[in-house]
Amino acid sequence: MNLLASTYHPWGVVASILIATFASYVTLDLARRVQSNSGGGAVLWWAGGSVVMATGIWSMHFVGMLSFSLPITLGYSTFWTFLSWLAALAASGIALGVASAQTLNRARLVAGSLAMGAGISAMHYVGMHALDMVPGIVWDWRLVALSVVIAVAASATALGIFFWLRAMDEGKSPTRQMLSSLVMGAAIAGMHYTGMEAAGFPVGSVCRSADALGSDHLASAVALACTVVLLLALLTSQYDARVRRNTRRMEVSLQQANENLKAANDELRKRAFIDPLTGLANRLLFEDRLRHAVARVDRSVGQVASRNAEKVAVLFIDLDGFKPVNDSFGHAAGDAVLKEVAQRLRAEIRESDTAARVGGDEFLLLIEAAGSMADSVALAQRVLVSVARPYDLGTERVAVSASIGIAIHPDHGPAERIVIHADAAMYAAKAMGRNTYAVFESSMGNAAQEQMSLQSDLKNAVAKGQMELHYQPKMNGALAKFSGVEALLRWNHPERGQISPALFIPLAERFGLIGSLGDWIIHEACRQMAEWAQAGTNMRVAINVSAHQLRDPRLVQKIETTLQQHGVSPSRLLCEITESVAMEDVETTQRTFEGLAKIGVFLSIDDFGTGFSSLSYLRKLPARQLKIDKSFVLDLETSRDARAVVDAVIRLAHALSLRVVAEGVETQGQRDILLKMGCDELQGFLLARPMAARDLQKWIDGERPTGAPDFTPSVIYSELD
Ligand code: C2E
Ligand code: CA
Ligand code: CA
Repeated sequence: MNLLASTYHPWGVVASILIATFASYVTLDLARRVQSNSGGGAVLWWAGGSVVMATGIWSMHFVGMLSFSLPITLGYSTFWTFLSWLAALAASGIALGVASAQTLNRARLVAGSLAMGAGISAMHYVGMHALDMVPGIVWDWRLVALSVVIAVAASATALGIFFWLRAMDEGKSPTRQMLSSLVMGAAIAGMHYTGMEAAGFPVGSVCRSADALGSDHLASAVALACTVVLLLALLTSQYDARVRRNTRRMEVSLQQANENLKAANDELRKRAFIDPLTGLANRLLFEDRLRHAVARVDRSVGQVASRNAEKVAVLFIDLDGFKPVNDSFGHAAGDAVLKEVAQRLRAEIRESDTAARVGGDEFLLLIEAAGSMADSVALAQRVLVSVARPYDLGTERVAVSASIGIAIHPDHGPAERIVIHADAAMYAAKAMGRNTYAVFESSMGNAAQEQMSLQSDLKNAVAKGQMELHYQPKMNGALAKFSGVEALLRWNHPERGQISPALFIPLAERFGLIGSLGDWIIHEACRQMAEWAQAGTNMRVAINVSAHQLRDPRLVQKIETTLQQHGVSPSRLLCEITESVAMEDVETTQRTFEGLAKIGVFLSIDDFGTGFSSLSYLRKLPARQLKIDKSFVLDLETSRDARAVVDAVIRLAHALSLRVVAEGVETQGQRDILLKMGCDELQGFLLARPMAARDLQKWIDGERPTGAPDFTPSVIYSELD
């Protein structure tokens, strides 16, 4: 049979092979997207990927067909051409479906390759059918079979390559992906041109679809459109890959953040056991270590002869002269000294021992395997020498010393009392004149014991009605009249008699009892004011507010409701806050002061001259009164310095429109000096001792209490408010 001689347009062939290669490249990319997405995302990638892949394979075929020419005019029926694209779509869908599986087994590879090969072959031969030749094409069936085999083999290679690629790290294999695309492109093109070789066109054939698709322009248009589709697909695919990489990076940084959080948590936990200023252990950690050490000792006592047993020593160290350093050089200087002390203590002990800071200037040393008593004493002596070395504060050099109490377990009693006993020994060392040490003796236990029992008595003192407020008049300097009274707490202990507030208020603060005690004081003062008011006396009462109360955010609210409850005007109440407490936490003080001033309560700065007020700060506080500390008043007659200070303070206070009260006035001489300086009010034993409310009422009623002096002011001064 005579066949028509066929020719190929060389650029068309090259273009078809390039398209096949590019389509393979994009398809490999897309297959990975299907795999790394899940759920709806995977389905979308699968559908979109199939369309792109089908279009790629199909356009390779179509461009290849268009580069083929016979001496007669050729064209392609639209319907059959579309059908061939559908066949390509089926093949692609199967291919991506198989590729999206997690693993590739032999059965899946065989079935997938067969289906894909069948799809590609179908596309090719349906596409050939679009030529609609009369008479029909003469087929070389061996070449047809070979083309189908090539299609299946190409599919198998493609799937194999894909899973091989996937085993590698994503994004790190562009060269391999390019190589495998070349192999696949060549295989697909090989299948196509083998298929073309299988076709023979008898002389005299006519193409019945010559008028349909077929011009060279169309070829370029199809090639271009396909390239655009493929490019878009590639870009989308790469974008998705980047998004995923970013997501993963974000996950990594999230994980990092989590780790940081954990580190922060650990740090916090650590801080719960560390004194932040000195870096030494705090009381919690100390007690924990002590428990363990004692448990070890107690175990060994049970086993070995007790003479050889280990001992645990506790050294209680309190600095002497620290407060003056803090007061005259400021908190920063105080902190520097504490830090230095901590370092020196650490240098004196072994790695296995523990140094802790448990109070402002109180330190504890825990010495495990303490050896003999002589060893502990030697350590105490070394600490004394070390702490007493001067401290360099830049421009200043200061000195402090230590008082040390030593207690040893098991010699000095049970484990839970060991710190209390070291504390008692420390007090004994202080009493011996400071800068020394004392070893615990059972007689010292009484003081510690006493504190413990006082503290437990204090808990019930209010409920048992043992607390009472006494009132000490403040006398207007000029008019010899009461300008008000200061409420001073008294504890009438059933066995010990009256206990000084200077003794039990610090105890209450230390053991967390000051809160309820403070509340009781507010109530009692208001109740008393209401009672006096009923008797016709409108008395102004000052109460002392502790540091603890000042920090209580509900203080203002408490005072306001209590005043209302008793129907007392807020302007009758005065709150005294010591200067050093006010300076401790400037912000809190300011907030509380402003809150109190707002509800109409007057404020007074107590013990003025002992703290470190800055003038600008003092001006900001809405205080009405300033009380000069009694230590200055005490020295007035003998010290020119004291006179200068008091004079300056009075001028300063008046410049700030504050009334000045001098407390602790005991002699006529002091009174005269103060009045000459223009002091507004006087308070002290010279005028009246603190007394019970009913005694005060009697005095107001004209019955002067026994011992109250016959007071006549020598200078006239007019009242400020
Ligand atoms: P403070 O606020 O400086 O109170 C004045 C202290 O000086 C009172 O001692 C008072 O009795 C005493 N005093 C009065 N006139 C003279 C005098 O002429 N010479 C001498 N040497 N002393 C005089 P008290 O009552 O023993 O109170 C001591 C401290 O206890 C008070 O010092 C105050 O800080 C605190 N305190 C007393 N009552 C309360 C209270 O109700 N609440 C709070 N938070 N603290 C209170
Ligand atoms: Ca006071
Ligand atoms: Ca005072």
